[in-house]
Order: sequence, then structure tokens, then C-alpha cells
Amino acid sequence: MKNIVIFGAPGSGKGTQSDLLVKKYGFKHISTGDVLRAEIKNGTSLGQTAKSYIDKGQLIPDELMIDILANVYDSLCPCDGVIFDGFPRTIPQAEALKRMLKERKGEVDVMIELSVPDEMLMERLINRGKTSGRADDNEETIRKRLDVYKNQTAPLIEWYKTDGKHRAIKGHGALEEITDTLSEVIDSL
Ligand code: AMP
Repeated sequence: MKNIVIFGAPGSGKGTQSDLLVKKYGFKHISTGDVLRAEIKNGTSLGQTAKSYIDKGQLIPDELMIDILANVYDSLCPCDGVIFDGFPRTIPQAEALKRMLKERKGEVDVMIELSVPDEMLMERLINRGKTSGRADDNEETIRKRLDVYKNQTAPLIEWYKTDGKHRAIKGHGALEEITDTLSEVIDSL
């Protein structure tokens, strides 16, 4: 049972690479962004709450996010492996994930950072916005999301380094090359 965190800024390719890895390894994929968007689509009260944050490019409060994550995890596992995509995004979330997995006799095996230059992120997200239909893929909200990433999420890189779990790989270039490099890290676990 492997617990793999795919980490990176908005637009770094976490979702795309997670989909490819899920196909290759048969792991479960937990994208907290997808979970929240499904709640919005289904018109649930959680969806309404989530929308008020997502549309502003802000993070959903930690306590709420941590509960959601535990519920989704328990609905999918025990299983061969999980790819966490978009969670954790704050240090309290990383601490909660560590606790949650420990209670289930597991741990984060690796946190893999997809590193992509800033200017490329903006370009990718603006392009994605042309087809994604996502309300948060507009220039103003993208800027806000990139700021939130820098201030609240990027400190997790040091946190996972201290925990001995951090690996960084190049997140730009040919899609297959990125998948191959990610696979090498996963195969080495
Ligand atoms: P994503 O699809 O991962 O880019 O997430 C889209 C939006 O959902 C984010 O900008 C946040 O508003 C919200 N979101 C997703 N995951 C989290 C999380 N782990 N913590 C807080 N907010 C989140």
C-alpha cells in the first residue's frame, strides 16, 4: 500500500500526471479539487460553502478539508495505493494526513514535487481556462491562486524535506518523460 503525494503549483500538471499514473499502477486517485467540484455540481451544502472559497481563489478551511479527505480515503481504501493530488495544501493538512495514515498503520511514502517555472504556470492556466469551464481559471483568480500557493502551500516543500519524503522532478517538457520520471520514483519505493 503506497501513499504518494503529487505536489506542485496550480497548472503544474498534477491532475494530468495523476490520471496517467492511476492507469499505469491501478492506484486510487484523490483529487480534492475534483471532490469539491463534484459537490458543487450536485448542489450540496458542502458544495455551496466550497464554491464561495474556490471562486475567490482561496483555500477551503483546514478542518473542513481534513474531514472530507478522511471520508474519501476510507471510502476507497484499504487499496494498493493512493495518489493524493491537491492535498495537503497547508502545514496543518500535512500534519493531519500524517496522523490519519498513522492511525491506519500507513505513512506518506513520498511527496513528489512537479517543478515548473512561474511564467509557464500562468500560460498553462490561461490556456486551460479556454476549455476547462472552470470559474477559477481566469487571470485574476489564477494570480490569487498562485499567491496562495506561494504563501500557504510552498512551505510544505521544507516540511516534507524535514520529514525525509521530498523529491522534486522537472514538470515541463514531454508528458511521457515526466510520467517516466515519476514512475522511476514510484518504482524505487
Ligand atoms: P485544484 O483543482 O486542486 O486546483 O483545486 C481547486 C480549488 O479547490 C482550490 O483553489 C481551493 O479553493 C480548493 N481546494 C482544493 N484542494 C484543497 C485543499 N487541500 N485545501 C483547501 N482548498 C482546496
